[in-house]
Amino acid sequence: MGIVLRGGRVVDSDGESVVDVEIGDDGRIAAVGTGLVGEEDLDCAGCVVAPGLVDLHAHLRQPGDEEAETIETGARAGALGGYTALVAMPNTEPTTDCVAVVEQVRALGEPAACEIVPSAAMTVGRRGHQMTPMGELVDAGVGMFTDDGTGVQDPQVMRRLMEYSTGLTDRLGHPVVLAQHCEVTALSEGGYMHEGAWSSRLGIGGQPAEAEELMVMRDITLARMTGARIHFQHLSTGVSVAMVREAKAAGLPVTAEATTHHFTLTDAACACYDPVFKVHPPLRTDADVAAVRAGLADGTIDAIATDHAPHTVDAKERPFDQAPPGMLGLETALSLALEYSGLDLSGVLAALSWRPAAIAGLADRHGGPVRPSRPANLCVFDPDATWTVSGRAMASRSANTPYEGWSLRGRVRHTLNRGVPVVVDGEARR
Ligand SMILES: [Zn+2]
Repeated sequence: MGIVLRGGRVVDSDGESVVDVEIGDDGRIAAVGTGLVGEEDLDCAGCVVAPGLVDLHAHLRQPGDEEAETIETGARAGALGGYTALVAMPNTEPTTDCVAVVEQVRALGEPAACEIVPSAAMTVGRRGHQMTPMGELVDAGVGMFTDDGTGVQDPQVMRRLMEYSTGLTDRLGHPVVLAQHCEVTALSEGGYMHEGAWSSRLGIGGQPAEAEELMVMRDITLARMTGARIHFQHLSTGVSVAMVREAKAAGLPVTAEATTHHFTLTDAACACYDPVFKVHPPLRTDADVAAVRAGLADGTIDAIATDHAPHTVDAKERPFDQAPPGMLGLETALSLALEYSGLDLSGVLAALSWRPAAIAGLADRHGGPVRPSRPANLCVFDPDATWTVSGRAMASRSANTPYEGWSLRGRVRHTLNRGVPVVVDGEARR
């Protein structure tokens, strides 16, 4: 007998039903039904009980920039946001480009509130030239490779990476995933926001949409040539979404994510010159926001990611052109998705839980249906609870949320990590 999640509405990829969920001492779901008896009840009245959320794109800053975030604080922020797994980006210091750093990240993540899933760089030091020891990294459990922060600029290097990756499979036997941050730096250099009417008016250098779109186009072409499994990170423009839609229709093995900020904010937010709105790829136009939502609606965009990118107050207080790009996301993603993505509840959970779990190769323990014997990685949230965003009140070490003062609907009540309640009644326990 263990914990019983009582009185909630279970929503998973199989549908929904009002049932209690009993968690066994082994960290797995022991029973699903009515009238279950346990040692401890967690009240889920009025709440949705769902598979835990999975973020394909989190910058946890450790090793190297522990002032901005640590794996412990990032995972706590994740658990408070309903996440049970975070794919950690490899742009750490040193770069996560070898087995030793992967093992270090994994060890730091062991006691954390979420499962920390290290991704690894595609090229050594993310410099875009020399391939990382991908075979060894796969043997060490890595299933996703990315140079995130920059895209691989050289098409010949990208072709070789794609060719090599087609011979590698992850833990579950799926092809490993190459995740691309699409940005041709020759075009984006000197740009700090989206290039358009707002950048001209504000006198801030712009990054054209084409800087992203050219690389999306190139990688679709190379995927067709090599058969490699490509995932497009943080798609932000209408043309990018249209190209991925076409590639999928043609049967290419591509997937895509969009961040919460790319369907909630536009470049107009930069009018106050506040670097909290500086992010790569930059906030785009109303038409791009509409295209991202349409991409989510028709499944062109498989997953909603956070691109959670903590930065210290000092760093974000520099002038707009000098401040680092990036914004927090883990504690606001679910609420924003519920209210602004245009998706219904099951669509939101598909994009935040089971689809990203499948892309990251985690489907054996995250995102699966709420059924006996499945690992109890679960989140419980009240879809009607309202709250006000405050950067300082967040568990993250940094406070750079672009949603400061926003009133949002939908709040996490409990999160269970391998059966252990790590968030109870909205409070972190780990
Ligand atoms: Zn990126």
